[in-house]
Amino acid sequence: DIHQKQTYISTEQLQEIAQNLKLPLSKVYSAITFYTLFSPKPKGNYIIRVCTSTPCHMKGSQDLLDYLKQKLKINDGETTTDNLFTLETTSCLGLCAFAPAMMINNKIYGNLTKEKIDQIINDYQKGKEKESDYLKVNILDGGEKIILKNYGIIDPESIEEYKMKGGYDALSKVITKMTPEKVIEEVKNSKLLGRGGAAFPTGLKWEFTFCAQEKPKYIICNADEGEPGTFKDRLLLEGDPFRIIEAMTVAGYAVGAEYGYIYIRGEYEISIRRIETAINKARENNLLGKNILGSNFSFDIKVREGAGAYICGDETALMESIEGKRGIPRLKPPYPPTSGLCGKPTVINNVETLANIPDIILNGADWYNKIGLAESTGTKIFTILGDIKNLGAAEIPLGTNLKEVIYEIGGGIVGGKKLKMVQLGGPSGSTLTANMIDIALDYKILAQAGLTLGSGVVLVFNEDRCIVDAVRSMIRFFQHESCGKCTPCREGTKYLYEILDKISLGKGKVDDLETLKLLGENMKDASFCPLGQSAPNSLLNTMKLFPEEYTKLIKN
Ligand code: SF4
Repeated sequence: DIHQKQTYISTEQLQEIAQNLKLPLSKVYSAITFYTLFSPKPKGNYIIRVCTSTPCHMKGSQDLLDYLKQKLKINDGETTTDNLFTLETTSCLGLCAFAPAMMINNKIYGNLTKEKIDQIINDYQKGKEKESDYLKVNILDGGEKIILKNYGIIDPESIEEYKMKGGYDALSKVITKMTPEKVIEEVKNSKLLGRGGAAFPTGLKWEFTFCAQEKPKYIICNADEGEPGTFKDRLLLEGDPFRIIEAMTVAGYAVGAEYGYIYIRGEYEISIRRIETAINKARENNLLGKNILGSNFSFDIKVREGAGAYICGDETALMESIEGKRGIPRLKPPYPPTSGLCGKPTVINNVETLANIPDIILNGADWYNKIGLAESTGTKIFTILGDIKNLGAAEIPLGTNLKEVIYEIGGGIVGGKKLKMVQLGGPSGSTLTANMIDIALDYKILAQAGLTLGSGVVLVFNEDRCIVDAVRSMIRFFQHESCGKCTPCREGTKYLYEILDKISLGKGKVDDLETLKLLGENMKDASFCPLGQSAPNSLLNTMKLFPEEYTKLIKN
């Protein structure tokens, strides 16, 4: 609440928070200093945060950052003498289809050029706070739409329009015609796998929590997407928020939960607003709250805003964050379905996973099994980015060939250039050369080839791109986002970045390659959570697939 009104939290306010929460000041300070969007140090009235993640980096964000430094006469991390602006960099803002992008306080701006930056800064200097850009994502044609069918079609703030498209029929069906066991069976039979990256069977997760004895039980929607290049959840939250609320309510009915949380990253201002509006309207229509639709079933949802920490997309870190702590991952087991939020049984599902639920309930598991492949059923949203003609997002059946995604749905490489590399699933995902793209986007087939689908990013690099530069930007992201709990990741990401930076500046040595490999392999083995374990992926993969890119920079 304090941060809604000013850009930092003063010492007096920290003390006030500690007193009111009956916590030691050190606990409050430790939480505040963990999150990028919070600060205990004074900052300017407006904090400009320029996205430097790989998709923005590829579109020239470094040049724009340099331009802003020059224009405002400050460096990254500094505040102008009139106290108006503080300049910072940020990890992905989910505006990758409009790269390069930046955020000023909670307003977002995309497709930046120097001229556009001049205009925005001039407005702020004159006291005019510019509204966020309205950035409607280009939805590419990937075939039949299920979860994106309402995007751009209905007014996302109108419950009536959602209902006219069949909205809330699934909730009504489960409450009036289905037992919780039957709902879980249907979801299990649908073979729906988690779409956040881990691909765990959703129905099984629900069943574990259903069987757990402890109460209360919770449903959490993980809307903290932050993998650079990923904005699929933002589309669903902004374009069809009632779908997510309805799905969470169905999940609550199935497992016997009365409370739900939706944890949305703080950078997604519009998503937060739309979801809050949807929750209020659902309550007004007796679709949330006590005795939903006149039944014995009660369920309600609260929104929790993240504050700029990618690690909170990890399910246990996310729960720590909801509990008001630093978002640091927990040791597993115990697993959330039996011991999650506040130690109670908790289902935690990604936004896109939940978005599938209403249609599975309405049309049945058999219908869902006909879409996609036998073991990878349904569709998936892919975000298609980089040096590709058609930038945007596409919902496509799982099992579609990656080559088709790049050359047909994506329209091929800009300027007729050759393809050099595809980074699939974001920086923590897989790296493919042009020879490897003739492969089905299917969880099992990719796993057999040692690859992963991750969150569904398809980031394309043309023949002119410097691979080391791309990897450096990916490692910088992990260095920034490492939570600091364990040494291999905290120190490893820092050293990897330093060495890559040195190589990029032409100061690398042949020995550095062995050090990078050793460090990366140790991080994979010894890091505590998937962030540190996957941070060196792009480095190790590209060192194997494109060794000449590294040696070229060192030798020449
Ligand atoms: Fe934190 Fe990284 Fe260790 Fe995960 S691997 S616990 S993000 S320091």
